[in-house]
Amino acid sequence: MLCPSFCLKDFPSLNMTDQPTHSGAVPAWLEEGFEHIWLPYTQMQDAPLPAPIARTEGCRLIMADGRELVDGVASWWTAAHGYNHPHIREAVTRQLETMPHVMLGGLAHEQAYTLAARLAKMTPGDLTRVFFSESGSVSVEIAMKMAVQYWINKGEKGRSRFVSFTGGYHGDTFATMSVCDPEEGMHSLFAGLLAEQIITDLPLTRAQEQEFETLLEDRCDGIAAVVMEPLVQGAGGMLLHSADTLAFIRAACDRHGVLLILDEIFTGFGRTGTMFACEQADVVPDIMTLSKALTGGTLPLAATLARTHVFDAFLSDSAGTALMHGPTYMGNALGCAAANASLDLFELDPPGPRVEKIEAHLMHALAPARQLPGVKDVRVKGAIGAIELEPHTDHDWMKAQFIERGVWIRPFGNIVYTTPPLVIEADDLACITSAMVDVVRDWGINKRKDG
Ligand SMILES: *Cc1c(COP(=O)(O)O)cnc(C)c1O
Repeated sequence: MLCPSFCLKDFPSLNMTDQPTHSGAVPAWLEEGFEHIWLPYTQMQDAPLPAPIARTEGCRLIMADGRELVDGVASWWTAAHGYNHPHIREAVTRQLETMPHVMLGGLAHEQAYTLAARLAKMTPGDLTRVFFSESGSVSVEIAMKMAVQYWINKGEKGRSRFVSFTGGYHGDTFATMSVCDPEEGMHSLFAGLLAEQIITDLPLTRAQEQEFETLLEDRCDGIAAVVMEPLVQGAGGMLLHSADTLAFIRAACDRHGVLLILDEIFTGFGRTGTMFACEQADVVPDIMTLSKALTGGTLPLAATLARTHVFDAFLSDSAGTALMHGPTYMGNALGCAAANASLDLFELDPPGPRVEKIEAHLMHALAPARQLPGVKDVRVKGAIGAIELEPHTDHDWMKAQFIERGVWIRPFGNIVYTTPPLVIEADDLACITSAMVDVVRDWGINKRKDG
């Protein structure tokens, strides 16, 4: 097994012009821009310089100094087909040359309409209407607005609250923060500004199921929808629940006449083994949100899908029941072209069998981490592998360790995880998992006691 850190020159893909000038050199644009950029989720006071990436190729990030990193994150779970896939590149290039964008209000273009029809066809059940936006958070905002207005249009006043779950993550905007895990959503920091929702634990036990049932029964008059990530709560820490739990929640929503919004922004497009996670529980949400891997990690695009009965509630002789929403760049032609090309790839080469192999490797290769000091749990689902550690603040140290080993892994909270591109080859995946186990071992033995 050849991991990039040990054998840079063994990779023919590495263009000679990208050979390191001197290792770890900081490009001028990074040095200058770092004084002006404000980074995501970062305490800027002591933020280390991020790794400068000059280009991408397949499952690799190529740093400014020529070093290659095997990508264990797929750029926040988006790059399902790896980077620079020729089919997506050609589709976007063609679209750029023809028409990069036109407004979706009053004008129509082929890419958005084709994509809407394809998404309606490939998602389960009668999720037949597609509303486009540009980011995951906005698609969840739209789903929430749809759910509230659905009830208003049906003449049921006062159904404006949402039920969501601890450990959940649905975005960083104000409405979505209100349905995130209270800590993740910084509910105390923004107390008074965030809508008060009903946030409860996932019903994993019989007793919790009973409590959940009672909650819906007692408060359904005020509840618009339950909103959740099916099977895997991603940003909350790669927390898993069973298909049975999801099926129970769907059935409970049906029993009490509450809508179910499934946020498949992370789980959609093969990540958990099926095209959509909800298929594993054989359930269809009333509203579904998609983004992340929708364009295969090339352009920002999101979609909110509604079932026929939800859409029908917006039909009337009055403009007042219409959905009043319309992001400027909705249905962007470049993004939709990328998404159509990404769907071509999924059709040609369904991700299921690949994800099955990735899952088997992750289970086998990450299992030894269970025995390591400081490790609390190891979790694998589809192409998601996570090692949960005892609380620590060594994230920057870990990132540097991973880069030294030629892989890109970005630990967060107490989690060291991988969500590789779904096309990753066995050798590259082994680089990632051996680095994860090595770094966690090193941390547990040498680092943990310092802190
Ligand atoms: C990433 C994510 C979002 C937010 O998407 P953005 O594009 O970052 O706004 C919402 N829900 C889930 C489940 C996500 O993983």
